[in-house]
Amino acid sequence: MQRISSVFRKQEAEKPAKKDVVERKAEAGMKEEKPVAEKIRAGHVHESGCTGCLVALADNYEGILKILDRYVDWVYDLTLADTRHIPKMDVALIEGSVCLQDKIAVEEVKKARQNSTIVVAIGACACTGNINRFDRGGQANQPQHESFVPLTDLIDVDVFVPCCPPTPEQLRNTVIMAYLLLKGNDEQKKLAGRYLQPLMNLAKSPFYSKASYNTLMQEVINQGLCMGCGSCAAACPVRAITMEYGKPQGERDLCINCGACFAQCPRGFFDHGLEEQYEGITELIQEVLK
Ligand code: SF4
Ligand code: SF4
Repeated sequence: MQRISSVFRKQEAEKPAKKDVVERKAEAGMKEEKPVAEKIRAGHVHESGCTGCLVALADNYEGILKILDRYVDWVYDLTLADTRHIPKMDVALIEGSVCLQDKIAVEEVKKARQNSTIVVAIGACACTGNINRFDRGGQANQPQHESFVPLTDLIDVDVFVPCCPPTPEQLRNTVIMAYLLLKGNDEQKKLAGRYLQPLMNLAKSPFYSKASYNTLMQEVINQGLCMGCGSCAAACPVRAITMEYGKPQGERDLCINCGACFAQCPRGFFDHGLEEQYEGITELIQEVLK
């Protein structure tokens, strides 16, 4: 399967004319008579998580219907797509961390990687392990399930959309930008790449998927970036963080390295260079959703 790094080169060589795509769909007997655009194939792969990310995606209401109507064929999903095997996809959104004792889950994420151009880890469980790090040593519903790991422990991931759950807009915009990166014109591809770059950097970061309280300390608090919002303390599943004098204090012995605090921190990752493109990106999203 083609990877995101070779998308641009391969796309120029292989991009079929729009007419061909319409004809192919008509030949295949698909109901859609006049597709507005050449759609991408995307799906949702569900590993160990609470389904909050999928609910957040659905919380876009009309926005998500427009995306499905015009830009995306939703080809894989536990409940919304009538298929049992992970098909070829342009974009796979993977939610949840992976139980190493669950062979089906391990094979599933490997298959999703193999079959997808862009793999997006959505939510803190997929990105850092999150609360599932707590389900270790036989504490889970099935005691034989001893260890849960984030996706990057098993496969290459292209984009991280952290937080528990990510906002509906974050998820919607990521799908839009993935579409524009694959099918847009040069200017749209440039802006989409700029939007996705910080999230791609997170996926390639050597420490983000292994984040702990120490990471929060080093990357946010020690950098003078903490604004005392308390999101980290609220997100910590083992209450290792308390807010004292408006700042987080961590109990390192309690920390289970789930990364939830860092994933939830609004100052945990921020690309100031993006501010310059803010207007262009906002206009692009509004244009797509008009
Ligand atoms: S401090 Fe809490 S939220 Fe942060 S990594 Fe440790 S256990 Fe997870
Ligand atoms: S979530 Fe981040 S900004 Fe908010 S209190 Fe915790 S470290 Fe500070």
